[in-house]
Amino acid sequence: MRTLNLFRGLFRRFRTLVLRREVEIVGQCRLCGNCCHGILLKDRGWLKRKRQFDKLCEREPAHTRFRITGKDHRGRLVFDCAMQGEDNLCTSYGERLPLCRNYPSKSLYYQGGWIGAECGFRFKSVTFRDVLLRRKQIRAPRFSDVLDQERERDLQQADKRTT
Ligand code: SF4
Ligand code: SF4
Repeated sequence: MRTLNLFRGLFRRFRTLVLRREVEIVGQCRLCGNCCHGILLKDRGWLKRKRQFDKLCEREPAHTRFRITGKDHRGRLVFDCAMQGEDNLCTSYGERLPLCRNYPSKSLYYQGGWIGAECGFRFKSVTFRDVLLRRKQIRAPRFSDVLDQERERDLQQADKRTT
């Protein structure tokens, strides 16, 4: 499964590069609350031990809202959130963490992951098939984007020279 996700993620990145079409996240939240339990957390790598989680909480106390409920088949800690109300809604909506605000993120897509079927969001991507059947066109890079990239590269090279 892990290898499959890895290859799927690599393929998605390759396709994005070739077709120059970023994945889009479309839809809207149905307030089902499913993304607020069965959570996996990262602190550089996935958290697998309680002491890694304790360290994260020491550094970023906002994470103390998460409660370990077990481990998944890859040995990663699985969490629920104490801020989820009986109605499944977030009781700390204004202070929710970036990982909550950003769900579902494009990085999930590029890691080969999926959005749960119950979620109101979905990934929308252009496939090679779409292009072959002329349902979508390969999008040429915009001139201003190319200029931005060139400018960025010049700045990075200038930075390297001064360090
Ligand atoms: S799983 Fe999707 S629809 Fe459900 S609360 Fe999370 S973002 Fe909203
Ligand atoms: S802080 Fe709110 S949005 Fe984030 S996991 Fe907890 S209940 Fe869900």
